Amino acid sequence: MPERQRSQGAAAKTPTKRRGRRAARPAEVLELLRGEQGPLVWRGGYEPGDELGVTILSQHTSDLNAERSYAVLKRAYATWDAVADAPLEEIEAAIRGSGLARQKAPRIRETLRKIRELRGALDIEFLRDLPLDEAKGWLTALPGVGPKTAAVLLCFAMGMPAMAVDTHVYRVARRLGLIGPKVSVEKAHALLEQAVAPEEVYSFHVYLITHGRRVCQARRPRCEACVLNRVCPSSLV
Ligand code: SF4
Repeated sequence: MPERQRSQGAAAKTPTKRRGRRAARPAEVLELLRGEQGPLVWRGGYEPGDELGVTILSQHTSDLNAERSYAVLKRAYATWDAVADAPLEEIEAAIRGSGLARQKAPRIRETLRKIRELRGALDIEFLRDLPLDEAKGWLTALPGVGPKTAAVLLCFAMGMPAMAVDTHVYRVARRLGLIGPKVSVEKAHALLEQAVAPEEVYSFHVYLITHGRRVCQARRPRCEACVLNRVCPSSLV
């Protein structure tokens, strides 16, 4: 499985930007992180329906909790149609481990029912044939699907060049100056996606999220050990 990118987290404490240091360039960030983390090849994730379910489950919880709840849900129901037809209390009980089950159970069921209503079946494979912006627009019109969930699904399940911005990617991108300090997380999706070539979007996402987890952590960025410290305007060294 590719490294996942769903976690949420506490707001980052961003080091003060060094006066006079320019923002890092996306290409140099990509190359330095590639040098450290090694080349990446997209290997595919869950099939699209499962990716959608597990990504909704991951909202506001850890990947581990989300994947545990997904496993319970898959054991309890043979198909997503069965989830769409199940009583809410049953779904809620099945996904209790992911946290916020009372909010997520209706969100998942409503999303599934809406897809079925729009497409006549729980099948979203047609998205592969749409231009990226149309595919995103179709997904984000669904209840419970925001830009991050849409991007995760399109990128990880379908191999499309959609940039998912979670708390780690957002924090690292702001510290590096790849996006401005006032850019919202929603707007960051498009800006970071356009910052690199389409074939680099997947790698850019995985490198940034991995860097945010291992090095550029929210409370204590390890600038002294960071391969980006020469190009980062927020470096503390
Ligand atoms: S130097 Fe590295 S760890 Fe420090 S703020 Fe910049 S990207 Fe984060």
